[in-house]
Amino acid sequence: MRRKLVVGNWKMHGSQELVHSLLTGLQAQATQGDFADTAVCPPAVFLAQAATLLTDGRIALGAQNVSQHEQGAYTGEVSAPMLAELGCRYVIIGHSERRALFAETDALIAEKFIAAQAAGLTPILCLGESLQQRESGQALAFVAEQLTAIIDKVGIAAFDKAVLAYEPIWAIGTGVTASPEQAQAVHQHLRAVLAQYSEPAAVALQILYGGSANAANAALLFAQPDIDGALVGGASLKVDDFSVICRAAQSSN
Ligand code: PEP
Repeated sequence: MRRKLVVGNWKMHGSQELVHSLLTGLQAQATQGDFADTAVCPPAVFLAQAATLLTDGRIALGAQNVSQHEQGAYTGEVSAPMLAELGCRYVIIGHSERRALFAETDALIAEKFIAAQAAGLTPILCLGESLQQRESGQALAFVAEQLTAIIDKVGIAAFDKAVLAYEPIWAIGTGVTASPEQAQAVHQHLRAVLAQYSEPAAVALQILYGGSANAANAALLFAQPDIDGALVGGASLKVDDFSVICRAAQSSN
């Protein structure tokens, strides 16, 4: 049975003070024992500080990006072995902001996926359609294309140690959430695409929903059979809201 996972993507927000207050607050909430599996992805410069605060293992650490290269003359980049050394377990790959703002292609995303796994990290592979694609009825075909582009490069076996996140671009940071039924339809479709490669992989893979998930809508999303948790942006910066989401996920485990 798939366990629910909730991952906070802090994006480029925060300060050392915020890292401290958010993580001490979250840890205090998590200590009550009713959180689903939870991870936070602070900006890279705060990962070391976060690692020193997340000592009891209840909340895992993730990064928001990784270089496809292991080391070398790549000014400004951070490698997967570096993230692993800092204590990261996850890394977000293929977020729509990186695809749109930093021109990340499927080919590059596949390289990052491979680099992450080579260092023992679990990639959280993001995909999702634009509003225009949804409105023109292309959402399912588009996300299937995004997924197969990566499977064809990394192989289906690599998905044994990965997480998928369906993040419709029109729902990210907009306050407009996909309805539970809309999200479920896409998750079910992604699982069907995976099943064409491997039925066991399709059954086992955690598929998170991302896009304005919040304390009010999380439980309804998690009640859907193919939604295995959430990748949370804005609401992950508030201890109380994020805790509600982590508890809602655990209640539906
Ligand atoms: C995200 O950036 O991955 C995200 C889901 O953001 P938000 O929850 O703010 O829509």
